[in-house]
Amino acid sequence: MASKTIYMKHYPWLKNPYKRIIKQHQIKKTHHAFLIKTVRGLGVFTLVWNISTWLLCNEINGIESCKKCHSCQLMSSGNHPDWHQYMKNRNEIITIDHIREINEKIFKYPQQGKNKIIFLSNIQKLTESAKNALLKTLEEPPKNTWFFLIDYRNIIINSTLHSRCLIYRLFPPQEKNSLNWLKNQNLLNKTFNVISLRINQGSPISAKKFINNGLWEERKNLFVFFLRSIKNYNLLKILPILSMNNTLLKIDWICLLLFDAIQIYFNIKKQLINFDQLELIQFFSHNYNYFTLNQSIQTWTKCRYRLSNIPGINNELLLLEQLLKWEKILGFIV
Ligand SMILES: [Zn+2]
Repeated sequence: MASKTIYMKHYPWLKNPYKRIIKQHQIKKTHHAFLIKTVRGLGVFTLVWNISTWLLCNEINGIESCKKCHSCQLMSSGNHPDWHQYMKNRNEIITIDHIREINEKIFKYPQQGKNKIIFLSNIQKLTESAKNALLKTLEEPPKNTWFFLIDYRNIIINSTLHSRCLIYRLFPPQEKNSLNWLKNQNLLNKTFNVISLRINQGSPISAKKFINNGLWEERKNLFVFFLRSIKNYNLLKILPILSMNNTLLKIDWICLLLFDAIQIYFNIKKQLINFDQLELIQFFSHNYNYFTLNQSIQTWTKCRYRLSNIPGINNELLLLEQLLKWEKILGFIV
């Protein structure tokens, strides 16, 4: 990865986690394997990178790294020989060969004479055999080796890997703090900001991208077509817009809308996600019961799973099949 000097000040919600984790290191009450459970878009790379820079810095000043020494400069240029980041792109899979490579690295002396860092940025990308090999490594790693692992799954999984690590949960900031941050990023439409945050699990960075990369517009478009197709009792009208691009995201948006309908159905109005789409939400909550809404979400989830996991599948055909199925569930066709 190219130069990556992103300091904590850019992401204020990371300041406290950073402090807390560094303090644990200062009093030597931490663990060599640190597993962070979080959602995407909170800047967890920045957090790990800054902690690692501190761990490798030769002139630390309290909880800060000096940003000047040779080690800090190597980190800034992305060339530190004792910092090993894996999974730099999202699709990279970690195999047992990678773990062997890691083992070789950690059993050598640190090249800059201090600590060594291994960063695995998504443990879901480990193959089963890689996981087993890593477990062994985590049992008795050499001194001064620090592992940082990230887990983006929000379900509680008590795998053996978790039992070998210290688990740290990094939560999204409070909505009001995120809204302030978005405002400071020059995003001034509060409605856009609140909805984008809620669609993106409270992640400010993802919400910003959502608005700036045109996804807000795409969502708006999708729902315009969606409302029209529902009024005509013809869901096939959304097929072109659904299959065009960002299909998985669009399925997520439809599911979130259905979750809102379930909330209204049960009279919980406080935290609607898509509160700019009341007409659509009410169509579902007024005309269908919980069972039908839940069944709708389930078929969409299944469809999404097939789209993302079956290689070479014909997207358009699958979506067509799904829309027909949904028309049946909703009673548009008998
Ligand atoms: Zn330094």
